[in-house]
Amino acid sequence: MFPTHPNTKFGSMEICCTTSFPPNLRYIQSTTDVTKRQTSLNISLARALHVYGDHTALLADTGVPPLHLIQYTHLAQFHFRLTKMHSDTLPATLFKTLNKPLALNNLHPSTLDYHIRNSLHQLHISPLLDPLPHMITLAQKCRERVYHNILNTTISTLWRMELLNLAPLHLPHNNCRKASYIHIVRDNLQRRDLFKPAQYLRSHLDQLPLLRLRTQATSYIPSHLHLANNQTYTPYDQGYCPFCLPLQIVGNELHTLLHCPHSSPLSHPVAILSLTCTLRRYDLCSWSSHTPLQQTSTHLLTSISLFQTPTLNLSRARTIPHFLPCQPPL
Ligand SMILES: [Zn+2]
Repeated sequence: MFPTHPNTKFGSMEICCTTSFPPNLRYIQSTTDVTKRQTSLNISLARALHVYGDHTALLADTGVPPLHLIQYTHLAQFHFRLTKMHSDTLPATLFKTLNKPLALNNLHPSTLDYHIRNSLHQLHISPLLDPLPHMITLAQKCRERVYHNILNTTISTLWRMELLNLAPLHLPHNNCRKASYIHIVRDNLQRRDLFKPAQYLRSHLDQLPLLRLRTQATSYIPSHLHLANNQTYTPYDQGYCPFCLPLQIVGNELHTLLHCPHSSPLSHPVAILSLTCTLRRYDLCSWSSHTPLQQTSTHLLTSISLFQTPTLNLSRARTIPHFLPCQPPL
């Protein structure tokens, strides 16, 4: 797996992952085996991009849905092909003969039929009805492509719900890595197709510094450091700001970018000044009227309302990581 598009680093990530890695996913019956492959995929993606942060954040930003959800789409497409597309072929005839229309509870979990039916159940698709009744006269390949797109949208919705459930709005955003990431990029997760990378990655510029910042793979933000000097694991909410010691303040994105008296002024003079001018020019809400979390999201390019213009978007992407100090003081 590796990005290969000539103009963008991430534009073809979806194609690379879905064609080279999981074509046999529909035949894997054990959830443990799917989990093992997910772990391999996470490591492969991190190594290919040299971004060693939170795996969930990296998958969400680069547009690579979890394999257990991709498996649902493969099985649903397989069922569509056997029952609605090529019903007169030998595989379709065998499938129809051997698989009786029993209820899901009556099927054995080790059978392919069970996994197909379970996938359709998870995707809220009836196994008996044609999912594209209004397109029955179209060419088979066209119908399959339309069905594929519908499934991608459904999977995006399921994945979005999974992610948002990890970080309910009533919980504080700094209690763990995943919750912090999801709270900050909540706007980005509302994009219709989560199989596509986040908007800021779909350009020809080098967006790796910002990707590392968003996926908690930098040393700029103290709470991103997973390991202490003695190689022991540091929980996210115990990554204290070294500038503010002996006060034990969690050095998360919000503190580092907005509140820390030592690091936050570094981002303000250039970035915020140009941003407030642009907000005025487009008659948008003023910078001070945004909540601290919205301001942090804006720093990390997630606030859709503020980044409607590509020029503003790209200029922010280029500059934000360079405002931050490379090393905390000793
Ligand atoms: Zn501080």
